[in-house]
Amino acid sequence: MSRVGDIAAGRLSEEQYARNFGDVEPPLERKHALVEASRCYFCHDAPCLEACPTGIDIPGFIRKIATDNVKGSAITILEENIMGGACARVCPTEILCEQACVRTAQEGKPVNIGALQRYATDWLFERGLQPFARQAPTGRRVAVVGGGPAGLACAHRLSMLGHTVTVFEARAKGGGLNEYGVAAYKVPHDFAQREVAFILSLGGIDLRCGQALGREVTLASLRRDHDAVFLGTGLAGVNALKLEGEALKGVEDAVAYIERLRQAGDKAKLPVGRRVIVIGGGNTAIDIAVQTKRLGAEDVTMVYRRGPENMGATAHEQDFAQTNGVKIKHWARPAKLIGENGALKAVEFERTGAEQGRFMLEADMLFKAIGQIFVPAPYGGDNKDVLQLKNGRIAVNADRQTSLSKVWAGGDCIEGPDLTVSAVQDGKLAAHSIDRFLKQS
Ligand SMILES: Cc1cc2nc3c(=O)[nH]c(=O)nc-3n(C[C@H](O)[C@H](O)[C@H](O)COP(=O)(O)OP(=O)(O)OC[C@H]3O[C@@H](n4cnc5c(N)ncnc54)[C@H](O)[C@@H]3O)c2cc1C
Ligand code: SF4
Repeated sequence: MSRVGDIAAGRLSEEQYARNFGDVEPPLERKHALVEASRCYFCHDAPCLEACPTGIDIPGFIRKIATDNVKGSAITILEENIMGGACARVCPTEILCEQACVRTAQEGKPVNIGALQRYATDWLFERGLQPFARQAPTGRRVAVVGGGPAGLACAHRLSMLGHTVTVFEARAKGGGLNEYGVAAYKVPHDFAQREVAFILSLGGIDLRCGQALGREVTLASLRRDHDAVFLGTGLAGVNALKLEGEALKGVEDAVAYIERLRQAGDKAKLPVGRRVIVIGGGNTAIDIAVQTKRLGAEDVTMVYRRGPENMGATAHEQDFAQTNGVKIKHWARPAKLIGENGALKAVEFERTGAEQGRFMLEADMLFKAIGQIFVPAPYGGDNKDVLQLKNGRIAVNADRQTSLSKVWAGGDCIEGPDLTVSAVQDGKLAAHSIDRFLKQS
């Protein structure tokens, strides 16, 4: 009989932790980058470009790699996507540019666009170059709330256009979920902070950490003291299972645990269950499942209420989880959390598919990964004006303008795909719209 509540730190050796949380995909060396770049047809109507949410000139940057103009290649990428380095690591390219690549249809093997993008942007980062310059100062001041991909992309573009930007960030560090959420093995070696430093090195951006909207500042004060405001606060809430026993020891919110994992300097100090259950079928579920396995959990099972084709996680991510030893069970949902002496002992599941009935899985830890939600509370305080919501997120028009005058929004706090690359595009579009507004007013 196994012990109830078997949650322990230090399950692995130092070498195993280092291997498990090192780079999941090693970078391309020059000779391999040249070979990969030579596979590109430089298509005239490049479908890969159409599929990139930030519209990077993909054949253009690959051609520059092929001619050994790596700096020029990096600039082509960063002109459209200032977080091209992060996106090269975290983008689900298998459903974006690489899915659209003509080589996928031809031979099932796309040009490795993500790896080439990383090759070029890493080259620039390693040399500490900031290829962009600010336009002449306009004297206009913009407040950006949230220092994640949306906020930083907006701030960088506004600063390039000559405006002065203050970023109000609630947490201790900038970078948003690149720093606190994305799987550790996708962005090792403090990449998120290096990218934040690169963005700020342009100048004209004052990143103020520990400054939260609704705490240190209000929307009313930001609107009063600035010419425009951009909101990029992401999603602060998580869905609950709504089952008795959610307070049992071992029942955790996946996003909060991942945040602790990302900030843990020494992964050996992070306690993890021997048997882990993950509820959910999206990226967060995959990430917590794989990372707990890589922390040394013996048995990790993801349970999802519908079939594989309904999962938010791509087929590539599902394969990746299974390759890492994660089991995936479909068509079941948790019905009862069973505890002993205040600790989780087992979970009873109800089948949701054609098969009926219930089954039980023993577990020391259960992670809830059933979706994040937008929390509108910090936006209160403006008595007269109302920030309109749509489907539970901030409503915006095509220019990312909200219902409030002088206020724009983007990233996860508005409707759309919850991806780093989409957040960057929102920030960029909003910055250009703000710039047009400031020039007219
Ligand atoms: C676990 C996990 C893994 C993910 N993995 C991937 C992946 O592999 N690939 C991918 O493309 N996408 C991934 N995503 C999604 C991606 O991280 C987000 O879509 C992206 O970070 C959204 O950017 P954002 O700037 O809108 O929000 P965030 O990155 O959440 O940044 C919002 C920022 O606002 C700050 N903030 C919040 N409230 C306030 C306030 N009141 N005042 C001031 N500041 C505030 C936060 O501290 C944060 O820094 C993942 C998400 C999660 C949760
Ligand atoms: S679709 Fe593929 S082959 Fe064509 S330009 Fe894009 S990366 Fe190159």
